[in-house]
Amino acid sequence: MEFYLSERGGKVLGFQGHEYIFHRKINGTVHWRCRHYRKFNCHSKMRTIDDENHEVTAEPTEHSHDSFPQKIKANVAMQMMKETMNSVGANPRNVMGTVLQEMKLSQEVKAHMPKKSSIERTLNRVKKAGGNHIPNPVTAQKREEEIVKEVEKEIEKEVEKEIEKEIEKEFEKEIEKEIEKEIEKETEKETEKEVEKEVEKETEKETEKETEKETEKETEKEIEKETEKEIEKETEKETEKEIEKEIEKETEKETEKETEKEIEKAVEKETQKEIEKEIEKEVEKEMKS
Ligand SMILES: [Zn+2]
Repeated sequence: MEFYLSERGGKVLGFQGHEYIFHRKINGTVHWRCRHYRKFNCHSKMRTIDDENHEVTAEPTEHSHDSFPQKIKANVAMQMMKETMNSVGANPRNVMGTVLQEMKLSQEVKAHMPKKSSIERTLNRVKKAGGNHIPNPVTAQKREEEIVKEVEKEIEKEVEKEIEKEIEKEFEKEIEKEIEKEIEKETEKETEKEVEKEVEKETEKETEKETEKETEKETEKEIEKETEKEIEKETEKETEKEIEKEIEKETEKETEKETEKEIEKAVEKETQKEIEKEIEKEVEKEMKS
């Protein structure tokens, strides 16, 4: 947390890389609002207790823009230069040199500072304005040390935050990877199951078809056997009939022959009787004569 004055002399609060300007004070609480509420149409606000410790009673609400930690450091450096100008024998050039050297500002922070000529003009104006002020070198030096410490702390915090963010990102990535792997595994399992089911279905169908074919073949064989048997029976019957007919014919022939013989015999007998009668008649004739 840093406090400094704006160019117009308003109170500025630097906190977590953002700048807030004094808005109002109610019952010992200071209401701050984002310094860039106009520039970025930002509605971020925060509150502190109005005492030495400036305890934060309401954390800042969300900003509509990025933070500018380097800008705050640059402003702190400017404030330190202004305060150092009150030291005995101070002039813009040596003040600038001392502060920039002691604060060890990075190029990024320096980029947020005004041009050297502009700083010089500002510091000369401060010198003139504070002309009646009795400089106190000890206080100035203490203030310098304090500001350096504050800036160092601020930098440390920034670095820590960066590291935390990196760790969080890494952790998030790890978790995402784990989740992705889990999902992949699940998907693979699902796919495997699907494939297995498909294979099972195919196999079942194949088996069913095989069984059907087997059954069909069996049935065909049965039918064939039945048919063969039927044919055999038919053939047998036919043969039997044939044989019977043959036998009948034979019997008929036999009977005919028998009958013929009977007739022949009968004829022979008749013929003999006739002959005998003829003979008898002849004999009677003989006798009579
Ligand atoms: Zn803001």
